[in-house]
Amino acid sequence: MELKNIKVKEISETKTNPRGDDFEDKNFDELVESIKEKGVLMPVLVRKGQKKTYEIIAGSRRLKAAKILKFEEIPAKIVEMNDIEAREAQIVENLQRQDVHPLDEGEAYRKLIEEAKYEISAVAVKVAKSESYVKQRLFLTNLKEKTVKAYRAGKINDGHAVLIAKLSSNDQKSALLATLGRWNEVMTVKELKEWIESNIYSEIAFQPWLKSKEAMEAVGECTECKPNSESLFGPVKEGACTDLKCWKNKIKKYFSWKVKMGKLKRISSEYGQAPKGVISLSDYVKVGRKKEDRCDSVLKAIVVEGSGLGKEIDICINPKCEKHKGAQAQYGLTAKEVKERKEDRKKEIENAKKAKVAMEKKLADALKKVKWPLSEKHLDALLTLALELAGSNAYRTIAKRHELEVEKENQSWGGTCYRYDKAIEKMAKGLDKNEKIKFVFELLIDTGYGSLLKGIEKI
Ligand SMILES: [Zn+2]
Ligand SMILES: [Zn+2]
Repeated sequence: MELKNIKVKEISETKTNPRGDDFEDKNFDELVESIKEKGVLMPVLVRKGQKKTYEIIAGSRRLKAAKILKFEEIPAKIVEMNDIEAREAQIVENLQRQDVHPLDEGEAYRKLIEEAKYEISAVAVKVAKSESYVKQRLFLTNLKEKTVKAYRAGKINDGHAVLIAKLSSNDQKSALLATLGRWNEVMTVKELKEWIESNIYSEIAFQPWLKSKEAMEAVGECTECKPNSESLFGPVKEGACTDLKCWKNKIKKYFSWKVKMGKLKRISSEYGQAPKGVISLSDYVKVGRKKEDRCDSVLKAIVVEGSGLGKEIDICINPKCEKHKGAQAQYGLTAKEVKERKEDRKKEIENAKKAKVAMEKKLADALKKVKWPLSEKHLDALLTLALELAGSNAYRTIAKRHELEVEKENQSWGGTCYRYDKAIEKMAKGLDKNEKIKFVFELLIDTGYGSLLKGIEKI
């Protein structure tokens, strides 16, 4: 390595980084200002090019500034490097700049791996960071344009960016929209994680093809999930889907395969109109395994809509089937169970009707016995009815009016209770026939309706 001043015009552009500087440059003006004042303090890195020229490897910004300032010479380190080494030096130099955005960092690591053929672990050693740090930064390079923009603009933070980067491109769009919110109420990272869990991962949790090789082959490769090999919740199994759109495709293919293999009917576990080729819950009856529930029209079916996705059951859709016709479709119930429920309900209604008829008869019989003059027993019954009707709210007034002696009872909770009911009961027992009928009137008037008084006051 040689260190000397070389002529600015002898230095050519780099071959290994045709786009020039890797990153967008906000602070270039500041750099020009500083070089104008102090000169180029840090030598640029060059290697020998053709004839007597040099190729810049690192420090193209300083070189650019020197050209603008019309410097004749610039301090340089002259090294021997092949293309890969040169590229590596360029990437690493860019990483050493201040305020490198995590996105640029990720981009640089990616270049080290793709262009300088580094392993992730070697990158980690090279930049003195942990492997997981490097991996996380690498993940950021999965971010799609809109998220990148929002991230660079500071609308979302590192936490958001890492979560979104782990999603496939389709899901990134919806996750970004959700994160930014409708009125600039940006979600917290925790909220975003929960959002992703419930809006993307809970749906795609059902991946039955992972259970068998045949199913996996039938379903085929993911089309939208790559290159994400790791989801939010850990590494992804081979063949597992991490994208909602892709999952919808695969689950469709899976059901087609199942239907073909098992000669199954497609059914929905929901009432109402089902998509084309799918039988709605209103149009089939579940058939149980027991002999008495079977019929000649039994078909095998698989739930492709609604809850219980992928469940296989037996059904009957024959409108003329003696056993199942008229059976109300109820998901999860066999025709026999539906029939039993209906019978139970019918019995309940019948019993209630019978009980009502019996009551009416009893009342009619009882009324037949009521005659004038009232027997002592009927009078007592009438008094009981009136007492019940007046209720305990009226007892206090009545007891006071009759100046009854009222017992006090101490309550367990420390209070005192006046037993007006006991006092009234005792008094009622001591009344003669005339007093009893009078008391019936009094009780009825004391039910709280003062207007009832009119019923007797003018007689
Ligand atoms: Zn997929
Ligand atoms: Zn049937």
